[in-house]
Order: sequence, then C-alpha cells, then structure tokens
Amino acid sequence: MANGQIVIVGAGIIGLAHALTALEAGWSVTVLEKDGRALGASVRNFGTLWPIGCAAGPEREQALFGVRRWQELAAPAGLWLKPHGSLSLAHRPEAWDILQQYAAAGTEAGFELLSPAAIARRFPAANQNGLRGGLFSPYETVVHSPTALPALARLVEQRGAEVHFGTPVIRVLDEAVETGDGRLFPFDQLVIAAGDDLRTFFPQALAAAGLTRCRLQMMRTVPQPAGFDLGAILVSDLTLCHYPAFRHCPATALLRARLQAELPRHCEWGVHVIAAQHPDGSLVLGDSHEYATDFDPDTRADVDDLILGALRQFASVPDFRIAARWQGIYLKSTLGQTQVVLHPRKNITMVTAMGGLGMTLSWGLAQQTVAGWSKS
Ligand SMILES: Cc1cc2nc3c(=O)[nH]c(=O)nc-3n(C[C@H](O)[C@H](O)[C@H](O)COP(=O)(O)OP(=O)(O)OC[C@H]3O[C@@H](n4cnc5c(N)ncnc54)[C@H](O)[C@@H]3O)c2cc1C
Repeated sequence: MANGQIVIVGAGIIGLAHALTALEAGWSVTVLEKDGRALGASVRNFGTLWPIGCAAGPEREQALFGVRRWQELAAPAGLWLKPHGSLSLAHRPEAWDILQQYAAAGTEAGFELLSPAAIARRFPAANQNGLRGGLFSPYETVVHSPTALPALARLVEQRGAEVHFGTPVIRVLDEAVETGDGRLFPFDQLVIAAGDDLRTFFPQALAAAGLTRCRLQMMRTVPQPAGFDLGAILVSDLTLCHYPAFRHCPATALLRARLQAELPRHCEWGVHVIAAQHPDGSLVLGDSHEYATDFDPDTRADVDDLILGALRQFASVPDFRIAARWQGIYLKSTLGQTQVVLHPRKNITMVTAMGGLGMTLSWGLAQQTVAGWSKS
C-alpha cells in the first residue's frame, strides 16, 4: 500500500463514497458502523440522483460526476439503477416562467421544454388539469437505496477494506479511535461521516458551523399495476421553490409568494413533492421538512395528507394505497451551505450537512477529500 491508514466512521453514502475513493487512491481503509447495517438517511431517501436541483457551475458538475460514479459502480456492485430522467411540471404561470428562464439560462444539452400536448403523449402519468408545460431533463437517475447501500458496502469489502458493522466509535484519540468493545483503530486520516449526530464528535465545531437537524416524512405506495411506468421522476411547482438550482430565476420569488398565499400549510411544513418509481413498481413519495434539535416521536398524518394531496394535483397514479411510511433525518446548514466539511484537527475530516443531495454529491466531495490527503 503506497499510502497510509484511513478510518471512516459511518457506512452511509458519505462514508462508503469516501471508502471506495480512498481505496482507488491506494489507501488502506477501515469502515466502522455502529448499526448492524446502514439504517440512516442513506437508506431512507428517494434514491434520486438529482443534478437538476444543484446550482449551475461547480455544484452541478459535482452532481453530474456523482451520477457517473453511480453508473460506473452499478455493475461491479450489482445494484439496480434506472436513468429515468426528471419531469418538472408547471401548473401555475409563475412556475412555467421559472422553467423557461431556467432552460434559457442553462447550457446543459438534453433539456426539453414540453407543451401539455407533448407531455400527454410521452408522460401519461402527468396530470393535464391546469398544466402549462414542463421541463424534461435526462440526467436524473433512480437507485434503490435500501439495497444499493449494502451492495456498495460489499464492494468496499471486496476491494480490500475492512468493514465492521455493529461497531460504534465512542472516542476519538490523537491517532486512533476507540470502539464500544474497547478496540483501538489507528488512523493516519480519519473521516467522520456520522450522519445526523450533533453531539458525539466535536459538537462545538458542528455548532459553530451553524448546523441543525431536519426531519422529513416519506411514504411508499403499493407496487403499481404491471405495465404502469411513471415515465420519469415527477415533481411540480412546490419543488421549484425548494432547490438552489432555481433561485436565480426572476419568477421564483413570485411563485414562492403565490404558494405561501395558496398553500400556507405546505409552506409551513416545508412540503414539496417528488415521486420516484422503484424496481418493484412502487412509488417513493415525499417529503416535508421540520427543523429542530430533537423531534417528537410520532410522525404527522396531516403532513402525509398534504404530500398526497399535492401529488394528486400533478400525477395520475393507478393505485394511491400507501404500503409504508417512515421518517429520515439529516443535518442542514442554517448558513445556506449545501455541504459542510470541517477539520477539527489536521488529520480529521468531518463531512456532513449535504441536506437532500447527499446521494448525488457525496462522490465529488469524497474525491476532493482524498485529493487533499495526497497534497498534505
Ligand atoms: C427523506 C430523505 C430524502 C432524501 N432524498 C435524497 C435524494 O433523493 N437524493 C439525494 O441525493 N439525497 C437525498 N437525501 C439526502 C441523503 O440521503 C443524505 O444527504 C445522505 O444519506 C447523508 O449521508 P450520511 O452518510 O451522512 O448519513 P447516514 O446515511 O445517516 O449515515 C451515517 C452513518 O453513521 C453511522 N454512525 C453514526 N454515529 C456513529 C458512531 N459513533 N460510530 C459508528 N457509526 C456511526 C450511522 O449509524 C449511519 O449509518 C435525502 C435524505 C432524506 C432523509
């Protein structure tokens, strides 16, 4: 091994992306995960790789790099991946203005502004009622997170790393971490990718970075009837106010004001709706955004109803029965950053707060982290 020893805390997507990238660069890698398998945000999400949500420029490039990495790794890891594309539907005039402004500013090949008639021909699941148009983007991709994360962990092991599940890290010493069973794992570089944890590792550094926790409610329908294809990952007006990508569009402020007036409860609970179809034909639906340090134990049925009501406005789905409901939590920057990297000590990298884009952006960030070690 040309390089030294990397220890990674957490086997979510950020930890595994760092593990694979470090292995490729010739480091020895050990991953320590407290649970028996990944159970955090990385297996509770939509599984959508989402460049369209990322601001044009370096972050969009990072997202597209992430999509390419997932594509390269799909066969060796044996994971399901569908390049479904995304269809952003506009029902309000302000939303249609945003899509036109966004497409006009974009340099991406492959964006298609579509009329309602074109949408009816290509995407029968899109609700035509009040539809003004839509934007199809071919880059967005779906992975099935609950099986993709274990597949990536197996690949990390096959490529030579040690992966220890059921092994919580309880203390960071100068050049080693200590696990709950008293073992010490020495490191040259330590990556802490501990998800929504704010209290265990360097809590003062996390607090100083202005991080908060965000809880999201999610649902999955029963498998749709055989032959039903959603056609793309579907979103609509609410989503255009959610992601950084659309902030520069002049119509975004107008749409936000209109949604605030028309859908105050959706805005209060941070509801915007994504529908993504998975390999068994089911649709993963969400989500809401609630910010706090600690959350009530119960999720809210009325918030689920807001999500389902918004979905019915823009999608015609044969079977709306819900098979499962869950919540996910991630850290989010209150300072508007879309990813946070901290170095509480010279040889420690904490990677967190990728909000709703961690599945998409982790690979690019891992590349930056590993490249930084070669320079140090
Ligand atoms: C509902 C929801 C929907 C989302 N949708 C999308 C999407 O469609 N597209 C997208 O790109 N992103 C999406 N995201 C964001 C993405 O899922 C997250 O940004 C990403 O999963 C964060 O990865 P992570 O590895 O930091 O966290 P996690 O997956 O939470 O992993 C952290 C791991 O660290 C482990 N750990 C914690 N403490 C210790 C310890 N002391 N010792 C050992 N192990 C420890 C935990 O057990 C956990 O397995 C979504 C997130 C949520 C919650």
